[in-house]
Amino acid sequence: MEKVKVAVNGYGTIGKRVADAIRLQPDMELIGVGKTSPNYEAIIADKKGIKIYTVKDNLGKFEKSGIRVAGTIEDMVKEADIVVDTTPNGVGATYKPLYQSLGKNALFQGGEKADVADISFSALCNYDEAKGKKYIRVVSCNTTGMLRIICTMNKISKVEKVRATIVRRAADPKEVKRGPINSIVPDPASVPSHHAKDVLTVIKGIDIVTMAVIAPTTLMHLHTMVLTVKNKVNRDDIINTFLNTPRIILVNSSRTTVSSTAEIIEVSRDMGRVRYDIPEVVVFEDSIYTNGNEVFLMYGVHQESIVVPENIDAIRASLGLMGKEESIKVTNDTLGIMKGYLL
Ligand code: NAD
Repeated sequence: MEKVKVAVNGYGTIGKRVADAIRLQPDMELIGVGKTSPNYEAIIADKKGIKIYTVKDNLGKFEKSGIRVAGTIEDMVKEADIVVDTTPNGVGATYKPLYQSLGKNALFQGGEKADVADISFSALCNYDEAKGKKYIRVVSCNTTGMLRIICTMNKISKVEKVRATIVRRAADPKEVKRGPINSIVPDPASVPSHHAKDVLTVIKGIDIVTMAVIAPTTLMHLHTMVLTVKNKVNRDDIINTFLNTPRIILVNSSRTTVSSTAEIIEVSRDMGRVRYDIPEVVVFEDSIYTNGNEVFLMYGVHQESIVVPENIDAIRASLGLMGKEESIKVTNDTLGIMKGYLL
């Protein structure tokens, strides 16, 4: 099989995971990564044999650090069939003119404004609509979590209304300077938070309001959600549908004693998952409660890894490499993504 050439521009929390995932795909080749600072992540990429490209002004800095550089980011983009842009919030948009001028397809992340791309993407919701689109934005971690749940619930009964509270992790584990360390901060204090608007970039016309707070934790986000669906639903039907949906897993707290984000992460560590990543949405089974047409639930979102499979599928959608089901299956198989119960 001829492999498509993929470049990853921005090699941080998301970029390094997407780069590793690309290296596991049978139909993709990682041609290199764009990196501006010669930090420990660059040293590790170099040790892994990943080609590093940087901006002209920083070539000297990399040389000083003893990190091999293959060329400029522009050289990398020229060589690629598609670029996955995983640079920090807002930086991706500044690279769009380069991708455009070289005629390259590109993916952007949730930190960019929706209008940077032709479509915002979540594999379970709108893979088919994204087929052949030159510029695709993979929505943020929280939005990806919400969309997986909403689009799956839609299969049981049409979702008419969503009310959700997002308890956000304050920082990723590596982010030494971010807080808060002793506070829970409305994010923002006004309602709604931007997450509702972001969900609407993928599924149109749904009545959704979200609120968000930041909590002093680095492990995962946790959402509490109430959905109003068209027809009365049965708790068992919801559980069975979730058990049969890849990228959503259930944790039964009564049976397994796993009843917090800390314990979910510990299970992932004990399972030997790489970087303790959990790209699946983890639904607390005990929290699923129905009241007529209302469904209540709580779930954890591992912010560092949930968008990784979405990026892989978005590459295939953009370049028309595979249909939805096939792409999701190949991505899940190669990344060891589970369905069913966590334990
Ligand atoms: P990060 O800061 O960990 O990584 C960004 C990388 O880009 C760094 O390696 C940095 O050196 C590099 N970079 C900075 N300026 C650059 C430039 N001009 N050219 C090339 N590379 C440059 O950021 P991240 O957390 O991986 O976030 C990347 C994107 O993914 C953002 O849009 C963010 O909103 C989104 N996202 C982040 C998370 C998360 O929890 N971290 C989850 C989902 C989506």
